[in-house]
Amino acid sequence: MDDARYVATLVRTAVAYGAQAANRAPVTGFLREGERVVGARVQDVEGGGEYEVRAKQVVNATGVWTDDTQAMVGERGQFHVRASKGIHLVVPRDRIHSTTGLILRTEKSVLFVIPWGRHWIIGTTDTEWDLDKAHPAASSADIDYLLEHVNSVLAVPLTRDDVEGVYAGLRPLLAGESDATSKLSREHTVAHTVPGLVVVAGGKYTTYRVMAKDAVDAAVHGLDMRVAECVTEEVPLLGAEGYPALWNARARIAARTGLHVVRVEHLLNRYGAMAEELLELIVDDPSLGKPLPAADDYLRAEIAYAASHEGARHLDDVLTRRTRISIETFDRGTRSARDAAELMAPVLGWDKDQIEREVQHYEKRVEAERESQRQPDDLTADAARLGAPDIVPL
Ligand SMILES: Cc1cc2nc3c(=O)[nH]c(=O)nc-3n(C[C@H](O)[C@H](O)[C@H](O)COP(=O)(O)OP(=O)(O)OC[C@H]3O[C@@H](n4cnc5c(N)ncnc54)[C@H](O)[C@@H]3O)c2cc1C
Repeated sequence: MDDARYVATLVRTAVAYGAQAANRAPVTGFLREGERVVGARVQDVEGGGEYEVRAKQVVNATGVWTDDTQAMVGERGQFHVRASKGIHLVVPRDRIHSTTGLILRTEKSVLFVIPWGRHWIIGTTDTEWDLDKAHPAASSADIDYLLEHVNSVLAVPLTRDDVEGVYAGLRPLLAGESDATSKLSREHTVAHTVPGLVVVAGGKYTTYRVMAKDAVDAAVHGLDMRVAECVTEEVPLLGAEGYPALWNARARIAARTGLHVVRVEHLLNRYGAMAEELLELIVDDPSLGKPLPAADDYLRAEIAYAASHEGARHLDDVLTRRTRISIETFDRGTRSARDAAELMAPVLGWDKDQIEREVQHYEKRVEAERESQRQPDDLTADAARLGAPDIVPL
């Protein structure tokens, strides 16, 4: 599952039901009436300025940042969230001759090798992380750990040269008695820590709808009104409805649009029924039906669409989160960066200078990540990764 695409689609689904979503808009404090939380102060890091958003109930769902955001309330926390770092390696499919994925037990947890398009993903690690939460960095030790473990079951061992991409993430775990993050609970908790504020913390991706239901039910409990029962179980994501019929019609769609059927399948697999929006772009401008140079699994239309429909604001949004070009190519997307920026430019109104800034920033980011992956431990990897700040600092 492509987690970043899933989250973006989930947000679009919520918006289709009337939600207002704001990206790159951190909460800097809560609005109070006495003890009660009555809203939040939100900074617009893209456009500048700060806004007050008033609400009858506020839900704090900030994952590994929960302790920081709860500290804004000024109350002593009822629970704590620790961050556990997990990293993954991406290698080309031909490097491991297997027709199935693998799951192995390790001394700490499990190791898996799962198919991912034309690649394998190898994961994962589970170690405490208390450095920069926005950019968890994979160190050389993390990479060696995975290579060593996977090589114990491979006929032809993998080396560093086989690794196309590396990525790291943080698990928000409810802090308990155990020191080892791999032993901490994956359960979630919901609490009304002060009137008007619900906190949901811990949990797993797999259980996100249960977490959301529990958090919203708690918020509803604090409202002075009746609200209909939650129906999340029956609400499909945008793009789910109509997908099976489009899949059956993929050969006809290919004939109508002039795309190869493999490309239509790729779009349907990534966008579901929303693939029709991309197909419209391609019919209007057939050059968008061509592959993106140096990342030819993707069509140029996907880059333009990420900017026009999926809220991408910067080049790294597109190369790392709307697509996975940054981990699926040995050059980590640097060879596609300029073409991608030029496709985004007309949609977002970028001039030549902005294109240049975006490309340079992306190259710096890739270099900082590569440098961090050469460092022996978390401290040095973190310092190297911080060498490339965000294009719009959060
Ligand atoms: C290597 C790895 C493997 C995993 N494998 C699995 C798996 O197999 N199955 C599974 O179910 N789960 C898995 N997980 C766990 C899963 O990814 C996490 O539980 C999930 O991503 C947590 O989501 P979250 O939204 O609660 O928190 P986060 O992803 O931490 O998101 C918190 C959000 O809050 C925002 N935020 C922070 N501060 C502020 C602020 N002041 N104002 C506004 N917004 C703010 C952040 O920008 C961020 O978007 C894995 C995690 C990792 C790292």
